[in-house]
Amino acid sequence: MLKEVHHISPEEVISNLGSNVRSGLSSEEARKRLEEFGENRLKRAKPKSVWHIFLEQFLDPVIYILGVAMILAFVFQDWLEGFAVLVVILITALIGFYMEWQALRSVEALQKLVQNLAQVVRDGKETYLNVFFVVPGDIIILEAGDVVPADARVVESQSLALKESILTGESNQVEKTVEKLPENTPLADRGNMVFKGTIVTRGSGKAVVTATGDHSNIGQISSLTREADKESTPLEKKLSKLSQWLIWLTLILAGLIAVSGYLQGKDLILMVKTGIALAVAAIPEGLPIVATISLARGMLKLSRRKVVIKKLEAVQTLGETGIICTDKTGTLTENRMSVHNLVFADLEVNLGEADNGNLPEEIRESKAFQKFIHVGVLCNNSKVSEEKMNGDAIEIALLEYAENENFKINQIREKHPKLVEIPFDAEHKRMATLNKDEEGFIVCVKGALESLLDSCEFELREDGVKTFANKGYWKEKADEIAGEGMRVLAFAYRLTKEKPDFDRLIEDLVFIGITGFLDPPRKDIRAAIETYNDAGIKVVMITGDHPDTARKIGEEIGMLKENDGESQVIHGKDLKDLSNLSPERTKQLLEAGIFARMTPKQKLDLVGFYQKNNAIVGMLGDGVNDAPALKKADIGIAMGIRGTEAAKEVADVILMDDKFTSTELAIRQGRTIFGNIRQFVVYLLSCNLAEIISVAAASISNLPLPLLPLQILFLNLVTDVFPALALGMGKGEKGVMEQPPRNPKEPIVTKRLWRSTVIYGVGITAAVIGISIYAESYLGLPETEVNNMAFYTLILGQLLNVFNVPARNESFFRNEVTRNRWVWAAIVFSMVVIVLSYNIPVMREVLSLVPLTINEIFLVALFGLGSLLLTQLIKRLGGTV
Ligand code: ADP
Ligand code: MG
Repeated sequence: MLKEVHHISPEEVISNLGSNVRSGLSSEEARKRLEEFGENRLKRAKPKSVWHIFLEQFLDPVIYILGVAMILAFVFQDWLEGFAVLVVILITALIGFYMEWQALRSVEALQKLVQNLAQVVRDGKETYLNVFFVVPGDIIILEAGDVVPADARVVESQSLALKESILTGESNQVEKTVEKLPENTPLADRGNMVFKGTIVTRGSGKAVVTATGDHSNIGQISSLTREADKESTPLEKKLSKLSQWLIWLTLILAGLIAVSGYLQGKDLILMVKTGIALAVAAIPEGLPIVATISLARGMLKLSRRKVVIKKLEAVQTLGETGIICTDKTGTLTENRMSVHNLVFADLEVNLGEADNGNLPEEIRESKAFQKFIHVGVLCNNSKVSEEKMNGDAIEIALLEYAENENFKINQIREKHPKLVEIPFDAEHKRMATLNKDEEGFIVCVKGALESLLDSCEFELREDGVKTFANKGYWKEKADEIAGEGMRVLAFAYRLTKEKPDFDRLIEDLVFIGITGFLDPPRKDIRAAIETYNDAGIKVVMITGDHPDTARKIGEEIGMLKENDGESQVIHGKDLKDLSNLSPERTKQLLEAGIFARMTPKQKLDLVGFYQKNNAIVGMLGDGVNDAPALKKADIGIAMGIRGTEAAKEVADVILMDDKFTSTELAIRQGRTIFGNIRQFVVYLLSCNLAEIISVAAASISNLPLPLLPLQILFLNLVTDVFPALALGMGKGEKGVMEQPPRNPKEPIVTKRLWRSTVIYGVGITAAVIGISIYAESYLGLPETEVNNMAFYTLILGQLLNVFNVPARNESFFRNEVTRNRWVWAAIVFSMVVIVLSYNIPVMREVLSLVPLTINEIFLVALFGLGSLLLTQLIKRLGGTV
């Protein structure tokens, strides 16, 4: 590795590093270096060890309380109970451990899905490889949109410029050249170096890698500040807060119950133990981690469908998304373009969809057509290799067209080598090159008509170059072609004897004409737009393209109704300041569906505008220019194939197949997961509530306790946990995409959900207390049998409680819970455990179980079902959600 190379010539740097500009390193050499210098990645703090995670489980309030219970049991020499509590402690810790480990593993698995690639010369060939495998001495190729893989010395630059804000804080782009600099040049001014993690915003170039991984500048800085702790997601935080609050509430309630039971004349020790057990059972310590597992599982599921979620919290935000901003080309359209119309000053052709090279001779031979082909081929960064073309779709279309008309692309390019280039950018919407010509030079320009017209002084006619008078005609023509949904591109050129200044390249141009490109809308978009309509999600098209093109495409995919009025399409030039808008204008903009001729800056402002108007904004993008908007949006969505490394880096979600329709999967999943989390929270809380009220009621009356301390602990491990986990795995209700997006400010448990929780809890309690009174007062059964019947009724009531969870407007028999196979499995499993525990002598003793008669078991079933019926009655009458 080399540290300071900005004062040495590029050739020297390359030879010092034992490399070669043309052929790069050999793969043999690269392998050796990889071994010697290590992978090109920033070392993270060591992950927690398995033991660490396991031991951490014991630092938990629930375990402390259980510890007290265990010590109490041992002090009173109740060995069986002491050991039983010890087993409970171990099982609780193991469950906690398993869940956390699962969550960690799924998050790791997801991190591996996102690969960053670097373009490198190896063995004389340009290839893409994982940035981790880049080594010192590698020749890297940089293009706009790339993230620089390692620190490197620039050896070739075509207007290469980078944004280095992550290193220097400077937000403007910095130009890069190859020239040597004085040795004492400070880091920020080293204009011949590129640094790991910075972003290429313009131009292209080559550089030789000098330092990788932790040796790079960013590695040096971040090794100081690198943080090991993972931030928890907002959802986990919300759930933790809820748990904290409930812990206190439970502790107080448990204390009150113990005291009032004692005052009622019950055994003091028994009441203390009951208090402890209640506290343990009712504390919802597992909420945050179950939520994490649900989120992580959702992410893994999505990744199998080619949607990669980079951050856990994104899943939650997806469910809240109210507006999706998307670009047009390639997202809503196929991005497979073909030349469809040619319009020159004296000639006009509509080629139609099939372009079969039978162009009339008069056009083929015309001056305008010849110049159009030349400019199209020269002012063009796309490449032709044996197998395929690669590059920008519009440029490929131009090359394909030239080839179809039997022009030799490589011959044209060899005859007119490129000297200078002003790359295309989304702000100026044009591209220019300076090439050599037979005698002198030729400037070639292509771009949006509006961006060219002002620079054109002349126009090319068949009888020679004439002054340019009829600009209005061209605007009309462009509108006409755009109105058919074509992308419109204008072409111009200039011949000069002297080499022009770089700054004065695009001046005094000769206008050639315009072309229309067919770019058909994608087939599956219409259905996705409809789904979003039902789901109350607004789709907004933001494009750099012509307003009429955008409108036509919008109509074809069902975003706009035909003749949907001017107001639906907003022109970028009418969108100056978004901060001081009149209420009418605000309303108008919020209603608009299409924004055309937009610059990247305007994209960013629009995201801010929506956010200010209380929308959660999802934003699709692919270019470097989109990166700020992707970052600002609540959900940044980057394209996996077409997207630049820069866009992928800042995005929260990556669509590996570039399909707009995949966003729908993601949003559906986001909504479903949140719904599931809500369901198991409500389920768990209502079950816990049932336990508390049942015991409370018994302890302040003279009924026998429906639950003994060890019975409570048993319930807590079996019947509470498994159905709740099963609810977390649900596929979601059928109508998730038929409701408006969730309000992000809404708490997890809303007022209405609290009411439902209480009603479900009371429903179960009613059955438990009911059977206790019936068995004790009416049947006059002994206390142990009454307790057992109450215990079983509670279990049954809790298991059946899962069926209370679906929304009121769903059918009782066919809903997401009855369709969820995990739920049935959890119920069967719990039943089996209960039957088994009766048949294992130790368990029978621990749980104080006694034989029951058939009639008594029948009563349990009756009361258990009764609780479900009662709750359903209240629910269907509108008492709960
Ligand atoms: P979008 O991606 O939103 O469809 P772009 O920013 O790519 O829009 O394009 C905006 C306009 O810039 C197009 O209408 C076209 O006139 C022009 N343009 C697009 N690609 C190129 C290119 N490669 N070279 C020159 N001009 C281009
Ligand atoms: Mg584009």
